[in-house]
Amino acid sequence: MNMTTGPVLGAHVSIAGSIDKAVDRAVEIGCIGTFQIFTRNPRGWEFKKLNPEEVKLFREKVTAKGFFVPVGHMPYLPNIASPSKQLFTKSLKVLIAELERCGELGIKFLAVHLGSHMGKGINIGIQRVADACRTALEKVQNDVVILLENMAGQKNSVGSRFEELREILDLIGDEKRVAVCFDTCHAFAAGYDLRNEEAVEKTVEQFDNVIGLKHLKVIHINDSKGELGSHLDRHEHIGMGMIGEEGFRAIFHHKALRNLPFILETPEDKRGNFRTNILKCKELYG
Ligand code: ZN
Ligand code: MN
Ligand code: MN
Repeated sequence: MNMTTGPVLGAHVSIAGSIDKAVDRAVEIGCIGTFQIFTRNPRGWEFKKLNPEEVKLFREKVTAKGFFVPVGHMPYLPNIASPSKQLFTKSLKVLIAELERCGELGIKFLAVHLGSHMGKGINIGIQRVADACRTALEKVQNDVVILLENMAGQKNSVGSRFEELREILDLIGDEKRVAVCFDTCHAFAAGYDLRNEEAVEKTVEQFDNVIGLKHLKVIHINDSKGELGSHLDRHEHIGMGMIGEEGFRAIFHHKALRNLPFILETPEDKRGNFRTNILKCKELYG
């Protein structure tokens, strides 16, 4: 897929103004081949239908600028692992809508957080997530692939262990339409070491043994403010966190990871922004 020698590397960009402006922003900050968006305000339940004019512009710009892997991300409020019938139903509706919206926009991958079982136990959570994905995929017949994202292991969260992702994939049983997005910050916070070549090798091997590398489609490339196994979902600038430069160099140089799309979800503050993080990633990529 990646014909160039450089990385397929992008960042999560804003759709403020109109959805096609996200593509302009991606170009502006130096994204190559990929970027990620929320298709609407991620902090609410309400949303408007996509504007056909904006969809057309978005698609044109994506093609013109060579973004062959645009990625969508689910909004924050839905919890597809919820044991509450009401919240589950509401969350499922959003998942269905996002699958449809990504299809309209020509986005092939939708990254999904697996939510919280709210104290009912991991097995209930796993069942719920699988039910939600199965139902949504039945309802929406397009070529959008759901990416289950590994979580940091916050209290009651589903999907921080590779075994949990494997179980969900098995329960859904649709290898074409469900795969995995690997978030480096979340993995590290969940206890998977990534600080040097040996650690990266071991974590990738574990991923391969439990999930299978062929199911890995996108990497969220974030450093971690929290320590190894801290279960803290707090992203840091590349190289400035607990994973560090050595770790990211090893990630970028791993032959199974090197050609995958990398998406930054790093902070924007006095110490850096997406542009500086993209430069740092290119430097470490070599
Ligand atoms: Zn995410
Ligand atoms: Mn992420
Ligand atoms: Mn996160």
